[in-house]
Amino acid sequence: MAQSISPRTLPAEADVVVIGGGVVGAAILRELTKYRLSAVLIEKAPDVATGTSKANSGILHAGFDAEPGTWKARLNVRGSRLYKDIAEGLGIARREIGSLVVAKTDEQLQELERLLARGAINGVPGLELWSADETIAFEPGVARDVKGALWAPSAAVACPFLATTGFADNAVRNGGKVVTECAINGFVTENGTLKAVETTKGRIATRFAINAAGVHSAQVARLAQDDSFSIRPRKGEYVLLDKSVGHLVRTVLFPTPDKVSKGILVSPTVHGNVFIGPNSFAVDDPEDHETTRDGLAAIIAGARQIVPDVPVQAAITEFSGLRADGGKDFILAPSPALGGLFHAAGIQSPGLTAAPAIAEAVVEMLADAGLRLQANAKFIPENPRRAHFSELEPHEQAALIAADPLNGRVICRCETVTEAEIVAAIHAPCGARTVDGVKRRVRAGSGRCQGGFCGPRVTAILARELGIPITEVRKDSSESYLFYPRAETIGEESAYV
Ligand SMILES: Cc1cc2nc3c(=O)[nH]c(=O)nc-3n(C[C@H](O)[C@H](O)[C@H](O)COP(=O)(O)OP(=O)(O)OC[C@H]3O[C@@H](n4cnc5c(N)ncnc54)[C@H](O)[C@@H]3O)c2cc1C
Repeated sequence: MAQSISPRTLPAEADVVVIGGGVVGAAILRELTKYRLSAVLIEKAPDVATGTSKANSGILHAGFDAEPGTWKARLNVRGSRLYKDIAEGLGIARREIGSLVVAKTDEQLQELERLLARGAINGVPGLELWSADETIAFEPGVARDVKGALWAPSAAVACPFLATTGFADNAVRNGGKVVTECAINGFVTENGTLKAVETTKGRIATRFAINAAGVHSAQVARLAQDDSFSIRPRKGEYVLLDKSVGHLVRTVLFPTPDKVSKGILVSPTVHGNVFIGPNSFAVDDPEDHETTRDGLAAIIAGARQIVPDVPVQAAITEFSGLRADGGKDFILAPSPALGGLFHAAGIQSPGLTAAPAIAEAVVEMLADAGLRLQANAKFIPENPRRAHFSELEPHEQAALIAADPLNGRVICRCETVTEAEIVAAIHAPCGARTVDGVKRRVRAGSGRCQGGFCGPRVTAILARELGIPITEVRKDSSESYLFYPRAETIGEESAYV
């Protein structure tokens, strides 16, 4: 039976409008709901976490490689600490497995000493330089010609999708609004001051707007005649390996970084897979998400420099993400062109790690600019806990099935995801609206068959729960319809479920 989902319509006014539903925008929205004010996030895609926040390494960096004194250095370390406190309550999968930067030459060993010193200045806890023997003893798969490594115990792996949806869900629980398929068209101004934001869903009156539009943030700035920065997308490609080789490495393994990037890593994911990547090269198109043959070959070669026996035959998918390269540091500043507009732009790595700290810094800037902050006494910092069926004891599973038979219907066989979990993901405060939205929240389609088995079933469940014809269900982006022709007569019920 189809349940009604509250429509994501745009209110006429808000104290603050956040533009962009990546991890940064979602964290800012949640931070704003700690205060008694109205805040709305607009996102051009059908869901949050569809930009860079869906395709990155998922590492909560310890914070030793950012230049001391930069936003990156400050907010990385603060963000990493904040996740430690909030991840579990928000339902953000996180495992503190530490990281090793591996050196293979004497010059690289010197670089590790420089990183150690930087880390000390940045306030990174527990950093240690390890000998080759210590490194190999801890991580036996590492290349035998390793000369030493920098150990950072506070590094963690986390789920970047659940970080974004966790912040967004919590923000909505606390009164924030998320309006999807709503792109900014322009700013309404008076005497150089913001009065309203024009969107594809209408106008919203506001005094403050935050530009958190990722690789599109320079375009958003241009709408305010602000050309104070530009963004160059820089692609990073990955290969994801099956869970059957999840034991390959126990910690995040970095090469010694160069001037442009942290290099090609070999790392566990928080969900028990292993990934290799990313590489780094500039692209022109901010929507270019293709992977390339040359890029993948370079990743494999790079990964084998650190772990020679990387079993690439265990690859289950490949993907790429775009860094919003706006220069050396994050751009966290008021717009010089329009009063009331603030940029949270150029948020490259460690943007996932820094997101909750970026949110604090942005709200502080708004307060300095005159936004009145009165604590919201009703703020609930956590999301309701939901057990993962596959992780429960048999008697607990039996009790859940007795309470609701949908708990006994396994839709994704690779990841053991039940229909009850999928329905809950759709009806979450900022719930899934697309097949990939379900995948990002509960992992249906993330396993070895990559949705070959569960894809049609998830599609039918979405149609039923959203009360839409199955022909209206989309994979991810606004036009990614799964059925052609989209005759509305095919019906809401499906033979698949
Ligand atoms: C290859 C790679 C690896 C990385 N690894 C790590 C890592 O391990 N750890 C780490 O901390 N960081 C990492 N990062 C960085 C991290 O992923 C980013 O800093 C973070 O995801 C940026 O989030 P965001 O919200 O700024 O951007 P996005 O996630 O891109 O969100 C911007 C949103 O704005 C929306 N938008 C755009 N234009 C408009 C418009 N006109 N109207 C409305 N909405 C609009 C987009 O649809 C998008 O959803 C990595 C990045 C890359 C590319």
